[in-house]
Amino acid sequence: MTIQAKIAKWIRPRIRAKSAYHVPDPGECVKLDAMENPYNWPESLVQAWLDVLRGVSLNRYPDPDAKVLKQRLRTATGVPDGLDILLGNGSDELIQMIALSVAEKGRTVLAPEPTFVMYQLIAELVNMDYVGIPLRTDGFGLDLPAMLEAIKTHSPAVVFLAYPNNPTGNLFSEDDVCKVIEAADGLVVVDEAYAAFTEKTFLDEPDKYDNLLILRTVSKAGLAGLRLGYLVGLPDWLEEINKTRLPYNINVLTQVSVDFAMDHRQLMDEQARQIRRDRATLFGELAKLSGIHPYPSEANFILFRVPAGRATELFDNLRKKGVLVKNLDSMGGMLQDCLRVTVGTPEENSSFLAALQASL
Ligand code: PMP
Repeated sequence: MTIQAKIAKWIRPRIRAKSAYHVPDPGECVKLDAMENPYNWPESLVQAWLDVLRGVSLNRYPDPDAKVLKQRLRTATGVPDGLDILLGNGSDELIQMIALSVAEKGRTVLAPEPTFVMYQLIAELVNMDYVGIPLRTDGFGLDLPAMLEAIKTHSPAVVFLAYPNNPTGNLFSEDDVCKVIEAADGLVVVDEAYAAFTEKTFLDEPDKYDNLLILRTVSKAGLAGLRLGYLVGLPDWLEEINKTRLPYNINVLTQVSVDFAMDHRQLMDEQARQIRRDRATLFGELAKLSGIHPYPSEANFILFRVPAGRATELFDNLRKKGVLVKNLDSMGGMLQDCLRVTVGTPEENSSFLAALQASL
């Protein structure tokens, strides 16, 4: 039997049909494609952090429960009493753990569309069905009647709601989200990956609803390289989901580094405030460009529509001029003719705007 025949026999058709998650090589480009915080730490802080890392025992496994870090996050984030925290190697891993906990053939994961692609990808990897309900075309709000109908029809095991939503950048109406939580029999995960850039949160709500979990990450606030996500919810749910967690999923360098970073929370908060101010400036400048339509954002990126049929040409041109953004055109539907830019430093944003203007 050839290796191809063996692969065809043993690798699941769903896996064979997929491509691995592709991340483009930025080369020398200004990197505005992945919602990273553009600011690094000042040198003095880097030195203090290295001092902490020197004390770490790399020969030992990390604390399997990351108790110190969990307590730190609980206090820093203001997790209400009565709720627990579960840590993941990025919030991606927590999405996978949630899916693994409920996966049974014939069960459904439901989300509005377009949204964060990992919900669908992970649902399919664990052999679940995925149902995407189109957002409203007038402003990317939830289509509540369609969501409620789909919840009735499919009785989803999990509904994912990114709040603010990626890639559209908006917050759904609070009232609509509550109605979805009330209608769902299964879990509703409100994914607050972009919490640092908005005032709105459902963090106080999980003890009001017995099916609500809140997903957070430290990635967008400036620690994407450490890979740490956290899930907040009622202990009974988290106890079950924790059973799908691989031992020692949070490595020791991440545990001590995020703990250290929490000592310097003001710096991260100030960076987030700066990004929010620069988001407003970038939005204003984009809106001035003829043929460009930016959509309001509560996150650290802006989705914008370009003249019909020109998205890929403009994306390629930006790249040639040294600026990498995200091209969403090929996703089709509402995202046709759309690009997404992460808010960078004021200098990076100016380079992007100049390159876009020149390309237009
Ligand atoms: N949720 C949303 C809505 C996102 O946009 C992202 C990153 N693009 C994530 C989760 C994953 O974040 P991480 O795995 O870095 O924590």
